[in-house]
Amino acid sequence: MSPLPAMTLSKTAVDFIDDAHIEGLLQAPAPAASQVREVIAKSLEKQALSVAETAVLLRAESPELTAEIFAAARELKRRVYGNRIVLFAPLYIGNQCINACRYCGFSRDNHEAVRRTLTPRELVEQVLALEEKGHKRLILVFGEHPQYDAAFMADCVRTVYDTRQGHGEIRRVNINAAPLDDAGYRALKAVGIGTYQIFQETYHHETYGRMHPANTRKGNFLYRLDGLSRAMEAGCDDVGIGALVGLTDWRFDTLGLVTHARFLQERYGVGPHTISFPRLRPASGAAFEGTRFVSDDEFKRLIAILRLAVPYTGLILTAREQPALRREVMAFGVSQIDAGSRIEIGGYTEAGDAQCMEREQFELGDIRPLDTVMRQLMEDGYMPSFCTACYRLGRTGEHFMEFAIPGFIKRFCTPNALTTLTEYLTDYASPETRAAGARLIEAEMAKIPDPAARAEVAARLEAIRSSDQRDLYV
Ligand code: SAM
Ligand code: SF4
Repeated sequence: MSPLPAMTLSKTAVDFIDDAHIEGLLQAPAPAASQVREVIAKSLEKQALSVAETAVLLRAESPELTAEIFAAARELKRRVYGNRIVLFAPLYIGNQCINACRYCGFSRDNHEAVRRTLTPRELVEQVLALEEKGHKRLILVFGEHPQYDAAFMADCVRTVYDTRQGHGEIRRVNINAAPLDDAGYRALKAVGIGTYQIFQETYHHETYGRMHPANTRKGNFLYRLDGLSRAMEAGCDDVGIGALVGLTDWRFDTLGLVTHARFLQERYGVGPHTISFPRLRPASGAAFEGTRFVSDDEFKRLIAILRLAVPYTGLILTAREQPALRREVMAFGVSQIDAGSRIEIGGYTEAGDAQCMEREQFELGDIRPLDTVMRQLMEDGYMPSFCTACYRLGRTGEHFMEFAIPGFIKRFCTPNALTTLTEYLTDYASPETRAAGARLIEAEMAKIPDPAARAEVAARLEAIRSSDQRDLYV
């Protein structure tokens, strides 16, 4: 176990969040309908919105304009992403933590928490259990603790990639953890991580200070804000940002997220790959004074407006939310969800059907198995995808913008979604889910206009069904 590294900032670290400016944008008078429609039209042209334009949408509250915002988000989602939804699972590695975030069950001050870190052997068992369900993409989650330094995280990533059984393998490992230093990011890049996620939690300085006591490592707002800039400078150009919705006015943090996304885009030529917006959940030992309840209606507006603000950034919605809401927001914003998730340490082999608050970070809203989520997605007309092709072919960062290449989705995303879905249906699905999948695949194949391209995909699907060939990506 090495000591915590010093809190070194990036070369040009700057606190680019100006609270007064954001508050001013939110307090401006309600916009004219014509102004709102201009902003919507720009977004439908697939252009990212400025922070001020996003604020226009946030200030448009009439039922009529709200309905137009949702309709536009729905349309944009369809145009950019089609009906694909990417699936992943979180894997909690350890809940030791030196911080005292007021909302989190892993806080060092929560003496009810059962502390545990997976041993290498237990990690293998968890990965095998996830693979047996059909998962191909994981996000490893860590508390912040000297025990969980970059070398430890890199070992975990290697173990996950090396754990294979039958057709089971994990093809992409993302990480959600505390900010690292330059050497730390390089070590993780070297073992082939996908996205490195750091949630700022809140961009509102005063709230940040209240939620993260100053005598903790996480108490340093700028060190955290700068965390993904350091990742970019160390060569990790695939990063995810996020805000914990409910700590402060959700509209403030929506503008904080857009400010952060634009900052990364302008400075490094590539914006965040994903944005997460976890909504605050009950947690063991957590204190919620001073937080703001965000209703389902407000939360849906947040998702629709973010969709319009950053047309090409993946939006992630986790199993913190209830199944009905998850189902609804997929239509107008969300492009990635987790499924079959357990967040107690060791939960994929030990948990049974109930949740155990003393062992997890917060309470989940959707604990349906992966197979059930897959079936519902397909019955609703979505195409679940476990595709990991871009990342494995080095199509990331500024050198590659998947959406910049005309016809990219048709040529690559749809075939890769169909092959990974066929793998799932062949190797893991229940008979009912397999039947729903067969219907969906037939409908999707009929939508491929070019007969040669259709035949090529059909041949690949048949190879998966009738042989051991797997991982046939383009
Ligand atoms: N320890 C690392 C950190 O804080 O960055 C990463 C892991 S932390 C377990 C992952 C995220 O969970 C946090 O960034 C926070 O946004 C979220 N979280 C914490 N408490 C929560 C709660 N009560 N409800 C919902 N999400 C929560
Ligand atoms: Fe620790 Fe992260 Fe929880 Fe804060 S949110 S107490 S840093 S695990």
